[in-house]
Amino acid sequence: MGAALDLILFSILIIAVFTAAIGMSKGRSFLGWLILGAVFPILGLIAVAAMPNLKGQIRAGDAKKCPSCAETVRREAAVCRHCGHTFDRAAEQETARIETRNLRYAALIGIAVIVVSAYFMR
Ligand SMILES: [Zn+2]
Repeated sequence: MGAALDLILFSILIIAVFTAAIGMSKGRSFLGWLILGAVFPILGLIAVAAMPNLKGQIRAGDAKKCPSCAETVRREAAVCRHCGHTFDRAAEQETARIETRNLRYAALIGIAVIVVSAYFMR
C-alpha cells in the first residue's frame, strides 16, 4: 500500500517537473508550472504543451521585446520606435546566454529532485 502511494507521488513529481521545464522553455514561470503540474498532473502537462511559446513567437516573428518599454520591435532595430531605447547587441547576446544557462540549471535541479526522490522512496 505504502509503495503504491510512493509510486503515485513519484510519478506526479516527475510530471510536475516536466510541466515546469516545458513552461520555462516557453518563457513562463518555472515555479508556477511546477505547482500547477503537481496539483493537476495530467491537465497541467496538456495545458503547458498547448500553450503558445512566448519566446518562439518573438524569435519566429523576427521581432524582439524592448527591455525599456516592453513593446515588440523588429529584430534588426538599433533604436526602439516606441520609446527610443538604444539596443545593445552585446547585452542582448548576454541575456540569451543567461537564459540558456538558467534553463540548464532548471533541468539539472529537476533531475536532482527526481534522483533524490527516487533514492528516498525506495
Ligand atoms: Zn522601447
